[in-house]
Amino acid sequence: MAEGSRRVLLIGSAVGQSLSAAFQNAGFQAAGIDCRYQPIDVEANSLPRLIDDIRRDRGVLGANVTIPHKQAVLPLLDEIDPGANRIGAVNTISRVDSGLKGWNTDGQGFEAALEELRFEVSGKVAAVVGAGGAARAVVASLLHRADRIYVVNRSLRRAEELCRELGVERGGPASFAELARVASIASLVVNATPADLPFAASIVSPRLYFDLRSRKSNSGRLMLLHQGLAAFEIWTGRPAPAAVMRAALKRAAEAAVA
Ligand code: NAP
Repeated sequence: MAEGSRRVLLIGSAVGQSLSAAFQNAGFQAAGIDCRYQPIDVEANSLPRLIDDIRRDRGVLGANVTIPHKQAVLPLLDEIDPGANRIGAVNTISRVDSGLKGWNTDGQGFEAALEELRFEVSGKVAAVVGAGGAARAVVASLLHRADRIYVVNRSLRRAEELCRELGVERGGPASFAELARVASIASLVVNATPADLPFAASIVSPRLYFDLRSRKSNSGRLMLLHQGLAAFEIWTGRPAPAAVMRAALKRAAEAAVA
């Protein structure tokens, strides 16, 4: 790395496949910011040391955090944005006077993607599959808009915890055995797991199947773009060059399926 050049890290597992580097690097370049976005694979037991290293290395502007570290990273930071605190998960880290600050831009990304897809949530029944960091951001964003929210997860205990901590009162936790039934009564089904859902193809307009996986779906890609635009602005304090970043993401996604 050339002296003076800065980095933003992507911290997660198997992040070499991520599409974020392509569009974040295009954004830095278009904004004339000397910075590289660099994915790093990290095991859970190495996470505390990596966060300490970032705290000390002022060449690191910040980071994105992805599966599976979004919840585990929270207690390792010095300050947490109230939105991320309410969600209980962090996907973006920035450098502040007190050290490192955690943010969550996934909810913003999800909302902006729903808007682009012209899907109105108010008064609808939603089924969120998964109860990890991304599901938490999605549920928090649906909370005061959807009529009912069901959270379906492989580990029922984790779905119960999510509903209790985020205050889901209408709808609630459901086990994986109830997945097909819950999905059949929902207008919006969100896949917030890395797995395929068997009935996805049967969910057609005016219902919406929102798959968070950016390499598998347009909805996930839109969310990735919008959460990334918000993160760019947090790291740099500058407006994100959205059109350039959108085009770079489209190219990277097309190259990934070619
Ligand atoms: P996470 O915190 O590790 O949670 C993963 C969730 O998926 C857990 O609820 C887990 O269930 C469930 N799960 C894992 N493997 C499964 C399987 N084989 N079958 C059924 N359920 C399974 O991860 P995350 O950060 O929430 O991410 C979840 C997904 O969303 C990932 O694919 C991630 O790439 C994607 N994502 C996309 C965006 C975007 O901008 N497009 C943003 C955030 C996340 P248990 O609790 O039972 O283990």
